[in-house]
Amino acid sequence: MASIKQPQPPDSIFADAIKRLDNAAKHVDLDHEVVERLKHPKAVIQVSIPVRMDDGSLKVFSGYRVRHDNSRGPTKGGIRYHPDVSLDEVKALALWMTCKCAVVGVPFGGAKGGIVVNPKELSPMELERLSRGFIGLIADFIGPDKDIPAPDVYTNAMIMGWMMNEYSKIRREHCPAVITGKPLSLGGSLGREGATGRGAYYCIKELEKRRDWKPEQVRVAVQGFGNAGQSIAALLHRDGYRIVAISDSRGGVYRSDGFDVPSLIKIKNETRYLKAVYCECSVCEAVKAEIITNEQLLELDVDLLIPAALENQITAQNVSQIKARVIVEVANGPVTSEADAILSQQETLVVPDILANAGGVTVSYFEWVQNRQGYYWSVEKVHERLHKIMSREFNTIFKIMQQKQIDMRTAAYAHAMTRLGSAVAAHGTQSFFSNHNR
Ligand code: NAD
Repeated sequence: MASIKQPQPPDSIFADAIKRLDNAAKHVDLDHEVVERLKHPKAVIQVSIPVRMDDGSLKVFSGYRVRHDNSRGPTKGGIRYHPDVSLDEVKALALWMTCKCAVVGVPFGGAKGGIVVNPKELSPMELERLSRGFIGLIADFIGPDKDIPAPDVYTNAMIMGWMMNEYSKIRREHCPAVITGKPLSLGGSLGREGATGRGAYYCIKELEKRRDWKPEQVRVAVQGFGNAGQSIAALLHRDGYRIVAISDSRGGVYRSDGFDVPSLIKIKNETRYLKAVYCECSVCEAVKAEIITNEQLLELDVDLLIPAALENQITAQNVSQIKARVIVEVANGPVTSEADAILSQQETLVVPDILANAGGVTVSYFEWVQNRQGYYWSVEKVHERLHKIMSREFNTIFKIMQQKQIDMRTAAYAHAMTRLGSAVAAHGTQSFFSNHNR
């Protein structure tokens, strides 16, 4: 295959996220003050987390929590552990959460958190001390009616359990609803673990009807093989889709007749060492297949491309090489706004992140409701309710896209901004100052 250039990220992900708001605002009858408010996060906290390492030394890690907007309810968003976490990235992720919650109509605003760390280099005890230390520092900033964290890249149910336990100790009461994505034994919801992938899967099932797809003829590439990537790959494989390429942080594999996804998942997850809580095995080492890079995976001649890793994967630099006709954004922000414009000209359909990966926050909302009710639902009930929401919002956004002749991302933002606009207006005061009310 030809040599491939690394995708170049935009200077500021948050500035790029704002461009999308401005673009969508042109298509909605919205007070300009609503858009102005959404351009500024409500509150930002930066903390330094001192952690006693196993060898007795001290290391200090930087962490962030951003609450973007709470017009529609308490803020909600994951916590990411990654060496590339920055305030700019966390602000963008928080803004996307605001829009995502509005897209699916769950009564939350948006937030996000992150710690600058390579968690694969920490022992489980160091990881636990780091997680508890972070919660200690942001305890006054979060809460079941204020701001509710959840897992994101390189955080999982076990870490959410530690965090919930730490918060409960600080408050001296059991507080399961402060965090979602917890282990089932601590009040987690059935169906939460695979919810992000499943939500995207329900979007693809709607597309399947509209495009008359025969699953066995649809070639799929999935970038990222963690929580979200594994669950979408497994569900599509179960329906007969051909998953021809899969990758993780160390690279990818390609096989034209498709992979047996359940055995790939088993191999990858079986090699989880006790020493580290992260999977140590890359898909590249797990199966016999053509080895490809993450950049090559994006440029494969496939029908459906599913970025499920990190942001800024499809940029102005590599967009002309993208051959997939449909992209379903399971990751947050994998396509930059510059690349968006070109994909739209190429008539590539992009099912945007704020819709495609909203299954995670939807089932997080179900978990929060169950924690507050103290009454737990069956997995069938969770799937059924998730299915209903994802199909309803997918079809609403598809209709807006067709009616307004805009791309699906702009339609999703327009839909979200309409809901946000009504909430802001309903809070009052603003209309007293507008000209027609004087
Ligand atoms: P995860 O930590 O479970 O998995 C991340 C995967 O990405 C791993 O397979 C890792 O090897 C891979 N990866 C990391 N760097 C990579 C790179 N440079 N190139 C290719 N692969 C790379 O995380 P996750 O929860 O599956 O999250 C994946 C994406 O989905 C993120 O963008 C996240 O924000 C988004 N998301 C997750 C949830 C959720 O509920 N987990 C919800 C909404 C959105």
